Amino acid sequence: MHQDIENTKAASRTTGVDSEKVRADFPILNRVINGHRLVYLDNAASSQKPTAVIDALTRYYTHTNANIHRGLHTLAEEATAAYERTREHTARFIGGVKQSEVIFTNGATEAINLVAATWGEDNVGEGDEILITEMEHHANLVPWVLLAQRKKAILRRIPLTSDGYLNLPEVSRLITDRTRLVAFTHMSNVLGTINPVKQLTEQAHLAGAAVLVDGAQAVPHLPVNVVDDGVDFYAFSSHKMLGPTGVGVLYGREELLEKMRPYNTGGEMIREVRFDGVTFNDLPHKFEAGTPNIAGVVAFDAALTYLENLGMESVRQHEIELTGYALNRLTEIPGLEVQGPVDPLGRGGVISFTDPKIHPHDISTLLDSRGIAIRAGHHCAQPLMKVMGKVATARASLYVYNGRDDIDALIEALMETRRYFGI
Ligand code: PMP
Repeated sequence: MHQDIENTKAASRTTGVDSEKVRADFPILNRVINGHRLVYLDNAASSQKPTAVIDALTRYYTHTNANIHRGLHTLAEEATAAYERTREHTARFIGGVKQSEVIFTNGATEAINLVAATWGEDNVGEGDEILITEMEHHANLVPWVLLAQRKKAILRRIPLTSDGYLNLPEVSRLITDRTRLVAFTHMSNVLGTINPVKQLTEQAHLAGAAVLVDGAQAVPHLPVNVVDDGVDFYAFSSHKMLGPTGVGVLYGREELLEKMRPYNTGGEMIREVRFDGVTFNDLPHKFEAGTPNIAGVVAFDAALTYLENLGMESVRQHEIELTGYALNRLTEIPGLEVQGPVDPLGRGGVISFTDPKIHPHDISTLLDSRGIAIRAGHHCAQPLMKVMGKVATARASLYVYNGRDDIDALIEALMETRRYFGI
């Protein structure tokens, strides 16, 4: 047993992320749930927050709180500087884009809706095509279904292979001279599949189509460089990457953002308002109407710093190693069906599975009684569930504070669940 623990420690150290050390930075992980140490494996839904982020929130409200951009007093200037510092940091974090290309929203969902309601409204017409994939989260699906309906446009989708990848040979057939947009997830929140952003972007651009990438599951877990990948729009959320809820990011290429109409309207997004007309503020403020989630954005900076200190390459390495370990150990459970790619290099640490004899909701409830948090359901991907022939799956999703001991606890609890049901 002692040897096992030593092996686990050694394994997590070789990946560059020492999950045990990381765990000490997350106070919530000290909680005891139903008499057991909390094993948090619901990171695809939302991550936990390190002390640095919690402190940044408290510090902001204790020392700095004021509205931004408008005030001429010290607090307003400090709050504005802190808010804009996060923008500058975010711009660097995703590959060194211009600060004018980073728009704060309240989440990835709003970032995608912004593009649908502005760029989409003006660039997609009757008979045009929008290409998505079968593995989209509703956030990158519903806006396009509705836009297609409004515009009498056609929604096409890239199918999946039986092992959970995109069927890439199909893409050249599906992108046509009517394709206006290719919108796809960087990493699936159900299958874990990592999609080839650069390759798809090149194909889309060759046909004159724009590209929107849903990076909600990717930015927290992989090094992402939107400049290298050449995408037009990229959306993600702070709360899945150690930051506060209520903060999202839309990256958009300046040339496109400049031409786009505003999304929300009101204060801050204007340059001049008359009773008979309005001119708009410069980027990125044109897309940030009203008072934003200032405290959340300011504390998001601490999340970016935390991840940078770990190193995104190390975060990815840690997840490859831990995902491989989890996929391997899950094969020990008779009959269990794991979805998505089997190669940890082709996927992230989002692991969906089903037991032919136990409903995913029952699995989740029984795991909770052992202090293990996973998710069960359709994961906001109903069309994908249909493609997979499932109504729901159980989903364990990993992050930097998870170690092999968490996977071992999961496996043991899954075994016990089977015993509970007399299987
Ligand atoms: N896309 C994907 C792939 C997601 O997993 C999620 C969150 N579940 C979203 C978009 C939406 O993110 P949010 O709820 O933070 O707007």
